[in-house]
Amino acid sequence: MTDTKISRLALAAAIAAAAGAASAEGELNLYSSRHYDTDEALYANFEEATGITINRIEASADELIARLQAEGENSPADVLLTVDAGRMWRADQAGLLSPVDSEILNRRIPAHLRHPDGHWFGFSQRARIFFYDKDAVDRPPQTYEELADDRYEGMVCMRSSSNIYSLSLLASIIAEHGEAVATEWAQGLKDNLARDPQGGDTDQLRGIVSGECAIAVSNTYYFARALRKDVDGLSGSTDEIGWIFPNQSDRGTHVNISAGAVLASAPNRDNAVRFLEYLASDEAQVYFSEGNDEYPAVPGVALAESVAALGLFRQDDLNLSALGEHQNAAVRIYDEVGYE
Ligand code: FE
Repeated sequence: MTDTKISRLALAAAIAAAAGAASAEGELNLYSSRHYDTDEALYANFEEATGITINRIEASADELIARLQAEGENSPADVLLTVDAGRMWRADQAGLLSPVDSEILNRRIPAHLRHPDGHWFGFSQRARIFFYDKDAVDRPPQTYEELADDRYEGMVCMRSSSNIYSLSLLASIIAEHGEAVATEWAQGLKDNLARDPQGGDTDQLRGIVSGECAIAVSNTYYFARALRKDVDGLSGSTDEIGWIFPNQSDRGTHVNISAGAVLASAPNRDNAVRFLEYLASDEAQVYFSEGNDEYPAVPGVALAESVAALGLFRQDDLNLSALGEHQNAAVRIYDEVGYE
């Protein structure tokens, strides 16, 4: 046998051993409603670092929750990822989540961004703020309360009330002021609409560019994305748009989270906890910001350039489980005032 052949055989054996070792680390079955292709890097790094293979199923949160309920105890899913605390609340209400007591997660994730008993954890934040046409608006609203003021009649664009972002925003108003004031607020907001609710957040921002909307309510990452890469109908015109982080002088700006949870039926629970702990690492936190223009959940992690351009702000530290608790009331109130 030649030296080359021996070393080739040795190499083959080493690769086989490595492959065996890798598969021995097992698998992680991830149900995700995150819909950002940049997340690939997030998962690849975890696989490389741990040897755990991630099998991923992507669908809307409601579809994933229905699927988990149908699969019951036989579900292969270990981890659920959603893009709103309100949806995670629905999964929790359905009894699908299992509490996690992790020293790493409890230390790294601020208390208001995780369930009080560890049912879920927020890994990235998005603020729901006002963007406005600098030419058309002299004095943009400074608070969520002012957005419903009649001086902004016919100026505001926001997406439909069935959207979870709209429900969570109203839930935060209910948490702050109670249902009666929140109903007046929703009525005022509806009266201020520039058009019937339509489209996603990017469409509200495009409405500023087209002149239909003087003020648009949107999550921060949709605008930051247009600063980082080309977004049709928006990127060339971002200079015309100003923004306001509402309620800086009182309770702070309403934030929402992308959240993760371990499922009650998880066959690979240890790997699931490990994955959540990985999502709280500096390395993964940077991905949330660089890859999807979100604010990291863990304090002190560097912001992506596009996010830094929007700036830091004071956030409402309401525990986000409140968004779920007031969700049904929010549905009812939008319905009562006829906000579509
Ligand atoms: Fe979104």
